[in-house]
Amino acid sequence: MTVPAFRAPKGTFDLVPPRGEAMLAVRDTLAAPLRSAGYGYVETPSFEETTLFARGVGESTDIVTKEMYSFTTRGGDDVTLRPEGTAPVLRAVLENGLHRGALPVKLWYSGSYYRYERPQKGRYRHFSQVGAEILGTEDPASDAELIVLAVDAYRALGLTGVRVLLNSLGSHESRPAYRAALQEYLRGLDLDEETARRVEINPLRVLDDKRPEIQKALASAPIITDFLSPSDRAHHDTVRSLLTSAGVDFEDDPRLVRGLDYYTRTLFEFVHDGLGSQSAVGGGGRYDGLSELIGGPALPGVGWALGADRTLLAMEAEGLPLPGVTGVQVFAVPLGDEAAAWAFGLVTQLRRAGVAADFATGGRGLKGAMKAADRSGAKYAVVVGARDLAEGVAQVKDLATGEQQAISLNGLVTHLQRLV
Ligand code: AMP
Repeated sequence: MTVPAFRAPKGTFDLVPPRGEAMLAVRDTLAAPLRSAGYGYVETPSFEETTLFARGVGESTDIVTKEMYSFTTRGGDDVTLRPEGTAPVLRAVLENGLHRGALPVKLWYSGSYYRYERPQKGRYRHFSQVGAEILGTEDPASDAELIVLAVDAYRALGLTGVRVLLNSLGSHESRPAYRAALQEYLRGLDLDEETARRVEINPLRVLDDKRPEIQKALASAPIITDFLSPSDRAHHDTVRSLLTSAGVDFEDDPRLVRGLDYYTRTLFEFVHDGLGSQSAVGGGGRYDGLSELIGGPALPGVGWALGADRTLLAMEAEGLPLPGVTGVQVFAVPLGDEAAAWAFGLVTQLRRAGVAADFATGGRGLKGAMKAADRSGAKYAVVVGARDLAEGVAQVKDLATGEQQAISLNGLVTHLQRLV
């Protein structure tokens, strides 16, 4: 075997059939509940001004300090391949004035995201997300709605092992007191220099440190839920009770923080235990101050992003069949040149009539062509040679039973339409 000259860049992979179709189906199914809930579709460029992410995601986050694909263009602009979708979508909302129309604005999107991470199973440098945002309302029902829609999407894919982790990070009313208490606790620990620096800049981020010795040291750290103001608590309680009434189980996780700085109040993550260390299949939260951070007016919001790559891995971990792999319904097997031209015409007519069809190419003999018919997933093969054409018929073969019937060419398309 020859070694190919080029390979997909480190941390990336190709989707080829049948996983290609499966990924398309996963994205469609993740988006379906949003579409039926009236969310509008939005598309933004794959790259943005670097400052948008520095301000929007947070200067001290791992994403901004270590993981961005940033470069200066030939024209001297500093741009970054998008590492996440919320800041770009909010930028687009503000730029297009959507926030000046009826509120809330509900949007969904789907696309590629880029982070310069250490690659491992489930963690790639190029990955795919489906995202949703609700802008212009502080109503806790929006937080709950998004969580329910994500859970319904996972259910629609057949997944049973997705758990919902829920927390509240509080608003400006609760966070300063908690931050101070956490900082005081963390200052009392024996931490390495970088972590000690993080304690001073952004102590909440330390809660997200996955190292076992740090997690152990955090066991008796103060928790945010003990510091929530009455209105933050009421918001959180409403989200919890709406989830319960929608039949969505969740686990309170008072140590849940996520890798982006902009969250306020509700924070949640969807995890799957079949994925090893990269267990988050999706996550999101409320970000009431983000608009101001990127130079906009006050515009509360809540959103999530679901990772399509990890969702597909979770389906495989649960042993679910790959979705979306349908193949064709009818496969034409022409014998000889005259029949080949006729079969080409038949397949074109079938496709135009809404029947998924394909045909054997390259003048293959009967055996090879029948093998291709089996591989195509078709239920029926149409076998035709010069003699059949002369008699005005084609042989329609049921590929499951092997039964074969001569059908008149005139009524063939209608006959096949009825069969499939
Ligand atoms: P985040 O914006 O980090 O919360 O990401 C939302 C979801 O996108 C995660 O829960 C993952 O499922 C997925 N995701 C994030 N980063 C990666 C990555 N490097 N590789 C694959 N999936 C990712």
